[in-house]
Amino acid sequence: MAECLFCRIASGELEAAIVHQDDRVVAFRDTNPQAPVHILIIPRKHISSLNETSEEEEATFGHIVRIAAEIASEEGVADSGYRLVANCGAAAGQSVDHVHFHLLGGRSLGWPPG
Ligand code: AMP
Repeated sequence: MAECLFCRIASGELEAAIVHQDDRVVAFRDTNPQAPVHILIIPRKHISSLNETSEEEEATFGHIVRIAAEIASEEGVADSGYRLVANCGAAAGQSVDHVHFHLLGGRSLGWPPG
C-alpha cells in the first residue's frame, strides 16, 4: 500500500531509526517514545490490524515475538523487563493502520495500562 506510513518505512522510502530488518519484519524507534526503549516491530506485509490476520501469517507473528526478545536483549532490557503490546482499533488507541508491536522498556511500566 503506497500511502501507508509504515509500508513506506518498510520499503525504505521514508527514513526511520531502524534497529533490525529482515525479509519478514522491520523494527525501528518510535518517534514519540513513551519509555527509554520504545521500538516498533512491523511485518513487511501490509496488514491493517490484528483483526485482519490469518493463518498464513502465524509464522511471521511468531518471528516478531522472537525478534522482540532479541532486540530487548540488545537494548539491555531483557533482564529488567519490558512489554510487547499491539493496539487494535480505536478504543485501544491504534493510530497507524499497519499492524505494529510496541516494545517498551527501560522504566517501570504501570498495570493496568491506561
Ligand atoms: P499506535 O498508536 O499503537 O497505532 O502506535 C503508532 C505509533 O507510531 C505511535 O507510538 C507513534 O509515535 C509512532 N509513529 C508515528 N509515525 C512514526 C514514524 N514516522 N516513525 C516512527 N514512529 C512513528
